[in-house]
Amino acid sequence: MQTETTSRADLWVLTVALYKMSLKSAEDIGRWDRHAMSFASHELEGDKFVIGVTDQYAAEYYTSLYAEPLRIALIQAGAQPEVKVVFSVTEKAKEIEREKREKEVVKRVHTEEVHQVRRAAFASTVPLNPNYTFDNFVKGPSNSFAYAIATAIAKEPGGNTNNPFFVWGGAGLGKTHLMQAIGHHVMQHDPSKSVCYITSETFLNEYINALSNKDMESFRKRYRNIDLLLLDDVQFIGGKEQFQEEFFNTYSNLMTYGKQVVMTCDVPPKRLSNLEERLITRFQQGIVIEIESPSYETRLAILKSKARNSRHRIPEEIFTFIGENIKSSVRAMEGALNLIARFMDANPGMEINSQIARVLLREHIEEEVTIRRLSIDEIVKAVCSTYNVTYADILSNNRTQPLATARQVAMFLARKLTGNSTPTVANEFKRNHTTVLHGSQTIQKRIDVEPELKKTIEQITEQLGRKPSELFY
Ligand code: ADP
Ligand code: MG
Repeated sequence: MQTETTSRADLWVLTVALYKMSLKSAEDIGRWDRHAMSFASHELEGDKFVIGVTDQYAAEYYTSLYAEPLRIALIQAGAQPEVKVVFSVTEKAKEIEREKREKEVVKRVHTEEVHQVRRAAFASTVPLNPNYTFDNFVKGPSNSFAYAIATAIAKEPGGNTNNPFFVWGGAGLGKTHLMQAIGHHVMQHDPSKSVCYITSETFLNEYINALSNKDMESFRKRYRNIDLLLLDDVQFIGGKEQFQEEFFNTYSNLMTYGKQVVMTCDVPPKRLSNLEERLITRFQQGIVIEIESPSYETRLAILKSKARNSRHRIPEEIFTFIGENIKSSVRAMEGALNLIARFMDANPGMEINSQIARVLLREHIEEEVTIRRLSIDEIVKAVCSTYNVTYADILSNNRTQPLATARQVAMFLARKLTGNSTPTVANEFKRNHTTVLHGSQTIQKRIDVEPELKKTIEQITEQLGRKPSELFY
């Protein structure tokens, strides 16, 4: 697509759509959405794409996070290859911020009332996504068992048979949606019940905060007075021993009092690494169900159901095209559909067909073809051969150079390319979580000033069959 056919406003819409589709986790998408709310303006000025923010700190922070991935997305969306992304403090941004603040004073009064009502029913600070209801969930052979159990739980949370409910499966297959649907149903039918939805990462952070504020008492109280605990992405619990102890107590307490626990995870309990055996055993005591990738028919049904909520009239041909070409996750399909919708907005009157869709979704289709789960093992082996060290060296405590760098490069790549959580990576490296974090941050910084290192890392990435652009530094 050329710049001439993409108007300026649409260039941004398309860029955001493309960027968001490249994000793998709900956390990353959530973080982007939160940050993007504070972008006051965006404008193409010559070969600079200037994003207006209100203070210098934000400008620096956003530059480090987004300048490069946004530049790539801009080019994909049709901007010239020389384009640069600049976050800067602009007058316009300040003005918009002032106006927003004035409006907020009015809004705050109203929002506060709404929050008070919510808080009564909600133990958690994380609100449910209003779209994640049973009504919006499309059933198919890949998820019908999980759906049946979820609806049974929603009708009778805390019943003996389906407690805990452990749903697992790949990313973007509807685990969070289904889990939150239980929450919506329970809150609607029995407002006296306290429902808590939380990701295990947030749960862990709250625990750490409680520890450092010496406020374990209220932390415990809060999580022990819940009727329905929806704990998303439990794979993040791995590794943290002290936290597992606390979690075990919270969990046992809830179960003792017949409260319902629902968990999601990217692997079945027995494959959760670095988790105490007693927790794994507990998780298996209820019902464990996998959500699988949807069949072609289910994919089409999901696409059509998503399109029903949109004002766009999407031709049948496009549904078929997406259904046939994007299979890895429902999230990816949704992203593709959004991109088509944005294109239709940007080009009213233009007939969209599968040829255009093919161009528009080129990157995603390519990604579908090359998408392959890399294991940490493969990464370590590639690093070993590049640096001429052994696997045992990497796992050892020897800090001499270049071994120390090789180890940190492996940690960096493992975090960037496998989609595994830091604790999982840490476990594989037989290190603690902070060591891995530190190691990969060190590499991230060195890349900027050491072109040789950057080149080596890019070569390893390509050797592993992945694109250096995925590293997003
Ligand atoms: P997961 O938690 O498994 O990574 P999500 O629950 O976040 O996946 O789902 C990703 C997106 O796909 C969400 O927008 C969700 O609404 C949608 N989705 C997934 N499965 C279905 C389905 N069966 N019916 C309708 N939408 C679905
Ligand atoms: Mg999820």
